[in-house]
Amino acid sequence: MILKRRNFIQTSTLALVSGLVLPYNSISNMKKGNLPKANLKLSFDPCNLQLKHVFTLAGSSRSTTPVMLTKIEFEGITGYGEASMPPYLGESQESAGRFLAGLKLDQFTDPFRVDEILEYVDNSAPGNTAAKAAVDIALHDLVGKIMGQPWYKIWGLSAEKTPVTSFTIGIDSPEVVRQKVKEAAEFKILKVKLGRENDREMIETIRSVTDVPLCVDVNQGWKDKHKALDMIYWLNEKGVKYVEQPMSKENPDDIAWLTQNSPLPIIADEALQRLTDVQKTVGVYSGINIKLMKCTGMREAHKMMNLALANKMKVMIGCMTETSCAISAAAQLSPLATWADLDGNLLISNDRFEGVKIVDGKITLIDRPGIGIKEI
Ligand code: MG
Repeated sequence: MILKRRNFIQTSTLALVSGLVLPYNSISNMKKGNLPKANLKLSFDPCNLQLKHVFTLAGSSRSTTPVMLTKIEFEGITGYGEASMPPYLGESQESAGRFLAGLKLDQFTDPFRVDEILEYVDNSAPGNTAAKAAVDIALHDLVGKIMGQPWYKIWGLSAEKTPVTSFTIGIDSPEVVRQKVKEAAEFKILKVKLGRENDREMIETIRSVTDVPLCVDVNQGWKDKHKALDMIYWLNEKGVKYVEQPMSKENPDDIAWLTQNSPLPIIADEALQRLTDVQKTVGVYSGINIKLMKCTGMREAHKMMNLALANKMKVMIGCMTETSCAISAAAQLSPLATWADLDGNLLISNDRFEGVKIVDGKITLIDRPGIGIKEI
């Protein structure tokens, strides 16, 4: 008996030392009688999101947003992804369809090689950042599901550190603005789009119905740095917490001056897209707004956040109009952010997924593997 046990221990030790422990793929292939290895299978489906309210920015209005929903299937498990393509960013369902149709993900047999797969995707063509994000999100969802864990846990983040999310109040007539503010009573911070002639009127209208904290997004709308600074002092007195992209991204010197003199943090949005852009915002802005659709997805967004934090900058995570798929993917990163603007799924009437929840204005992660969504 003792001998048998010793033999077993020796054999087990030998197996470990000599590398006889078979990798996952070999074991699953043996179980299937040495069938060929499974390949990643990518599919995609265009869809138009219906907005509850017409959305007005400094420059355009629209009532739908085109998206492309993606799936990556592997050994019976499906990861879901999404590209959101508001027209002003230059991508469309046609361009995303062309890009995705050109990818050969079936060359990959190990979904855990996330770096290798996403570098192949990124190098396939320039641009196409939303289409690339749709692959990145689906791959993360798939890998998380295989591991049986949500990504915030895989990254070692704490669910209770998620920030509150802002809710955007678009530019509109005072009556409509008052109505929208009442509908947004659950939110602890409201985002106001400024950069038009009626900026002070917008703020005064909102202040006539609520004293909830505000943040403002100027979308590069202010032209003069001195006037911008005066406005920021006034906004500070009105309970505004930060200012997003106050002036043109083409004038970093003016923005650096504004940041130095401003009582409120100045956040870059249009001024950056990807990891390689973060360094040029250091010393110019107080923080950066990261969006999966601009930076090719979760993998690069995670790197950008860590780089910004290492440079003592504030981090904000934002979104486009998206379903709960891309919103839940971004929410996995939100414990690293000071502020979040993840309301894109709340602005649409035809969501296809259920995922992250907003409870008392706070992003509330769900303990479900991958990006934490299910189809509805
Ligand atoms: Mg913005």
